[in-house]
Order: sequence, then structure tokens, then C-alpha cells
Amino acid sequence: MKLYSTNNHNNRVDFKQAVFQSLPEDKGLYMPLSLEKLDENWLNSIENYSFQEIAKKVTNHLLKDDFSEETINNLIDEVINFPAPLVFLEDDLAILELFHGPSFAFKDFGARFMSRVMAHYSKKDNQLLDVLVATSGDTGGAVALGFLGVEGTRVTILYPKGKVSLIQELQLTANGKNIRAIEIDGTFDDCQALVKRAFLDKDLMKNLNLTSANSINIARLIPQSFYYFEAFAQAKRKGFEKVSFVVPSGNFGNITAGILASKLGLEVEQFVAATNANDTVPSFLKTENYQPKPSVQTLSNAMDVGNPSNWVRVMEFFEQDVEQLKSKMVSKAYSDVETI
Ligand SMILES: *Cc1c(COP(=O)(O)O)cnc(C)c1O
Repeated sequence: MKLYSTNNHNNRVDFKQAVFQSLPEDKGLYMPLSLEKLDENWLNSIENYSFQEIAKKVTNHLLKDDFSEETINNLIDEVINFPAPLVFLEDDLAILELFHGPSFAFKDFGARFMSRVMAHYSKKDNQLLDVLVATSGDTGGAVALGFLGVEGTRVTILYPKGKVSLIQELQLTANGKNIRAIEIDGTFDDCQALVKRAFLDKDLMKNLNLTSANSINIARLIPQSFYYFEAFAQAKRKGFEKVSFVVPSGNFGNITAGILASKLGLEVEQFVAATNANDTVPSFLKTENYQPKPSVQTLSNAMDVGNPSNWVRVMEFFEQDVEQLKSKMVSKAYSDVETI
């Protein structure tokens, strides 16, 4: 897979470099250079495939130039070892349960896939890998459990002091082994800013084999597309031909993966980006003026993001065209009262 930076379309790298560098030096985000659709016959018979078969198909399609089919299939067998059941609430309304992994967050998909990809490469290179990650709560736990005990890796997690739940704090701080957690006197955005600064620090990058596990990493994004296909497969078995997705959004990684799935040929009628009081994107869709704001604390702390780092990718997928974006996506903010 070849990738380019959103800030300079001539800045191109291969998958390995994008995985380890995470963030291009020009401060853009890596995007796939070209996305071919999955073959139509396979898509039209998707209901006949298991979750693992779907994940293998998508990964082999995207990363066939980077890994052998055998490597990919073994990796998926390890990573996708829990289900994502579609549970119907009403005749035509269902919840996709993404909490069956070890940290109970959908981030397990991304973190487990990424940790195995990175471990695969660094085993070859025989070099200690330092993983630096900012979390508003859930990412850190998924990353910690994804990397826990993975040889040749060391994980450092930055989290905002007093702004994660007790369970999340325990998931972050009680691992030992190759995982360390540091609390930052500030917000998630402060943690994220520190991570970004580290990656733009040339000295640090020269002396450490440093990589990020945030949702900006392309290896987190790819596996999150699997369960959009899996949701559709299950809906199809119930007789549905069309689906829309409502995605609770913070950094907009999850919904970006859904858009990736649609670019690969999954028919999605509409995406609904639901946010809490951090309404940067709903405001943007109303005013067409993108105004990042400081994040405010809410009950849904995994979504407390004032400047969603994947928004650039969303816009890039829609060719920076607000009309095109609006034809596929709506967005609405909800207060804590409404959330309850
Ligand atoms: C991470 C997380 C979100 C936000 O996902 P993004 O990919 O950052 O948009 C929403 N809900 C839960 C429970 C989460 O863990």
C-alpha cells in the first residue's frame, strides 16, 4: 500500500514507513494513494463469509504488496478472535456490539492489529520499539492490552489527570511489564499536543525508534473497517439491502474507517456522526467554517475532543468538497442530559 500526506500529495511513503512514522513531517495525515474496490461478486455474497474471512479479504486486498497471504491470515486469526454481533433493538434498528475484546472498547480492533503489524516489522529489524500514545480514556487501555507482553516493544501512555474513569485508570496503570502510564495535568488535547510535539522533534526521533498508537496511525484505521462489512453481512442475513451507520465520534477515527469501507465498495446510505457537547463537526456542517475548540468534559469522556485529528481524512475522502460530504454525512451534538 502506498500512502501520501494530506499536506503534500507528492510526499509518498510505503505502508511500513506510515505505520512507524505515524505522522508525516509536514504535519498532514497519511492517506491511501489509491483505493480499488473489492470485487463485486464477493461483496454481493458477503453474507456467506465469517467475520474472520471478511477481515482476511479486506486486509489481503489492501496490503497484498506488503505481506504474504499467509502472514495476513495468521495475523487476522490472532487479532479477530472475538465477535461483533449485531443486536436488534427494533425491526430496523440495531446496535453493533464492539465491546467483546479484552479492554471492552472498539479500539481493541485497531490496537491488536497495529501491535501485531509493528511486532512483525520490529522482529525483522531487531530493534526496541517505543510506542507513545495519548488517551482520553479508552485508547490507552486497548493499546496497553494490545501490546502487553509483546516482545521488543515498550508503551508509554499519556492521560489527563482526573478525567478518566476508575476502571480506565486501572486499565492504564495496573499492567506493569512493558507498559507505563503518565498522568498529565491538563486535558486530552494537551496530551495529544505533547505526542504530536514528540513526533516532530528530530533529536528524539533520531535516538528512539518511536511510534504512535493514536487513531492517526494508518494501522489502526484499516482493521476498524472490518466491522462495517461484518455489520452489513449480518444485516443482509436478516434481509436488509441497505444500511446507515450512526457513529459516536470523538477523534473521528471510527467513522473514518466506515468511510474507508464505503470507498472499498460497501454500500452505505448515510453516516451520522454523533458527538457530545464537543460539537466542532456539527457546527462545521452547519456553518461550513471549521473552528476547532478547546475540549469540554462530558459523561462520554472517550469523545471529549475539540479538534478531531481524523477530520482531515474525512475531508480528504470527500475530496475537500462540503457538498459531497453532506450528501453522505449528517452530524448532531448531544448534551449530557440527552445522553443519559
Ligand atoms: C474512542 C471512543 C469513541 C470515539 O471514537 P473516535 O474514533 O475517536 O471517533 C466513542 N465511544 C467510545 C466508547 C470510545 O471508546
